[in-house]
Amino acid sequence: MDGKLAVIGLGSIGSMALWQASRLSDSVTGFEAHAPAHGRSAVGGDTRLFRMIYRGNPDLYPILERSRDLWAELEAETGQSILTRTGGLSIGTKDGPYLTALLETTRANGTDHEILSREEMAHRYPQHNLRPDDIAVYDPNAGALRTDRAVTAAIAAAEANGATIHSNTPIDSITETADGVLITSGEKSWTFENVIVASGGWSQRLMPDYLKAATQTKRLILTWFVAKNAAEFSPGNFPTFSRVHENRSMYGAPAVDGVTVKATLDGRGRPTPDPDAVPRELTPEEITETIETVTEFLPGLIPNIVRSDAFPDLYTKDGSPLLGPFHEGSRIYVATGFSGGGFKNATGYGQIAALEALGKQTIEGLDFVRPERFKTS
Ligand SMILES: Cc1cc2nc3c(=O)[nH]c(=O)nc-3n(C[C@H](O)[C@H](O)[C@H](O)COP(=O)(O)OP(=O)(O)OC[C@H]3O[C@@H](n4cnc5c(N)ncnc54)[C@H](O)[C@@H]3O)c2cc1C
Repeated sequence: MDGKLAVIGLGSIGSMALWQASRLSDSVTGFEAHAPAHGRSAVGGDTRLFRMIYRGNPDLYPILERSRDLWAELEAETGQSILTRTGGLSIGTKDGPYLTALLETTRANGTDHEILSREEMAHRYPQHNLRPDDIAVYDPNAGALRTDRAVTAAIAAAEANGATIHSNTPIDSITETADGVLITSGEKSWTFENVIVASGGWSQRLMPDYLKAATQTKRLILTWFVAKNAAEFSPGNFPTFSRVHENRSMYGAPAVDGVTVKATLDGRGRPTPDPDAVPRELTPEEITETIETVTEFLPGLIPNIVRSDAFPDLYTKDGSPLLGPFHEGSRIYVATGFSGGGFKNATGYGQIAALEALGKQTIEGLDFVRPERFKTS
């Protein structure tokens, strides 16, 4: 036996699972195909939005609260600044479907928020060129997470707690045996009591057929712009935002690097057959739609894409993650399928995976993430 727990994939969620597991056991090992936080994974692209206000499943809220607290713990434990609190704006038509659904979830969760009229928006955040019926919902707890720093901090904290890391070690196979779980990489093999599969857009390669059928790897793009007046788009003046108008939607973050403002089309993930070869160039249609949207929404940005990139993420059929054993009683636990929204909750998901894979209780109400929901008896 080589140890109590192996985590396969040290990206967004695997790094957090390893950190959390290293607090509970002195016998945890992480395997990463490349280097942790490498730029071709879903860690790529500098920042991810964190927000407490969203539309959809209220069962997600306890994970979000836990994640918020754990981001603060990771910062305190490592001395790294990871979450830049900028506040966040959700912008849409007053009484339109986007804000109606968002406010319903926000009120059900009891989340702090402020409704900003069109006039208040014009006064406080004139960077946004609003349509006549637009309003915004302000989230005081939102911000931008520095992805590379988050993952490297979690890995460092795990190592400080005694975890072992194998970089440049892609795992080819996982087999449950009478003794535990056998994993292989080329000629090498190890046996662990339990394994967490957290290999993001690559996870299908290690999954049972019923989960392969319920998932798809998609390519998501990011685009950045330079502001005409840099100060207007600094973290102190420009909250993260998410804006939806019928078929036009965009989200973004202030210039956390002091130069480039993230402003990216939302909900445009496209299936990608090979996570190792995600096309990084934007299509002409993506460029045109991005520039049109930025020109309308944010006239203070120079409408030229100065930087763009694309990364893989694993989507499930229902858009909720996969957290739980492959099968009832299995020692292989899957933590993937974060469907374009997993980073904000990486600490919370990582903690749930670590606790449950080590046989400990977490929170109630997790049926919506269980892999079993995709079993067709
Ligand atoms: C462009 C883009 C924008 C996004 N914006 C947001 C946002 O604003 N807010 C938000 O909350 N979420 C956002 N998301 C979603 C979020 O980033 C992802 O859901 C999350 O990062 C996925 O994490 P993961 O750990 O599953 O995958 P990854 O972070 O990709 O990690 C998987 C890791 O596993 C490794 N690996 C793969 N196969 C193997 C193997 N066989 N052996 C060993 N290692 C292996 C990979 O090399 C990689 O390091 C966005 C995603 C993208 C792509």
